[in-house]
Amino acid sequence: MDLGIRGKRALVCASSKGLGLSCATALAASGVDLVMNARGGDVLNAAADRIRSIHRVNVTAVVADVTTPEGQAALVEATEGADILVNNAGGPPPGMWTDWERDDFIKALNANMLTPIALIKALVPRMMERGWGRVVNITSQSVKAPIPLLGLSNAARTGLTGYVAGTARQVAGHGVVMNNLLPGVHDTDRIVMLDQTTADKTGKPLDVVVAERKATIPAGFYGAPEDFGATCAFLCSQHARFIIGQNILLDGGSINSTMWYDVLFFAERSAP
Ligand code: NAP
Repeated sequence: MDLGIRGKRALVCASSKGLGLSCATALAASGVDLVMNARGGDVLNAAADRIRSIHRVNVTAVVADVTTPEGQAALVEATEGADILVNNAGGPPPGMWTDWERDDFIKALNANMLTPIALIKALVPRMMERGWGRVVNITSQSVKAPIPLLGLSNAARTGLTGYVAGTARQVAGHGVVMNNLLPGVHDTDRIVMLDQTTADKTGKPLDVVVAERKATIPAGFYGAPEDFGATCAFLCSQHARFIIGQNILLDGGSINSTMWYDVLFFAERSAP
């Protein structure tokens, strides 16, 4: 399928590895020029080189911490009016509710809520002027089914989801399509780290922890980052223009629910 986005420009944040890299790769495969980003320059530059040589698109690599105002300014400058924004950053650490102090919440809210909001505010106005834009926010399945050990993540991502519920509907009339993509368990470094944490806490061998986790997923396996990237590229395509403000779950069937009552949307609609 031709996604109809050849020649567009995308900023893909936190994209040297894992889900961000898979989104960047899938967009490049559709002919999209990229600004890629991570804090670690070596891995980022290697990923950018690989994408350039395989997909023959322009790739600018910006080494920066996306959660800082300086990092965001560098990304916005390098992007010069992006058509597509993929928001991503590292996820907060796991823990118990008793572990977290105010500063831990501020850090999580900054990384996984305020940072994507800042980039949306910086880049979406130009998209609206041109009458075309796409925003995909990488959030988490925890938005629909909160994960107790990831309380910091649950809190920050739910806040972003509320913001996007209203904003997506305010910009849709200007050709800007904004959605959230919710990963279930995908095979990335972050999941290796979380599985290792469980193994350390329970004393179970890592392969037992992984097998037990896979048994909770109806599909029976961890998602591949490539599956995730392909869905992201579709949401950035011409064909996605009628998909507005959705929370799209890629979880192998883990969350057993046929209906999602969009409380935030309903609350906004019924507000006086
Ligand atoms: P990952 O494999 O650990 O990759 C994280 C990527 O983000 C790396 O390229 C990393 O590079 C970059 N990064 C992290 N913090 C950054 C920062 N402050 N500024 C710029 N770049 C940054 O993680 P992932 O599994 O792809 O997860 C991506 C997001 O999805 C996370 O927020 C995670 O919590 C969420 N998520 C993932 C899953 C899953 O199954 N994988 C499930 C639910 C939610 P540097 O370290 O060099 O900066």
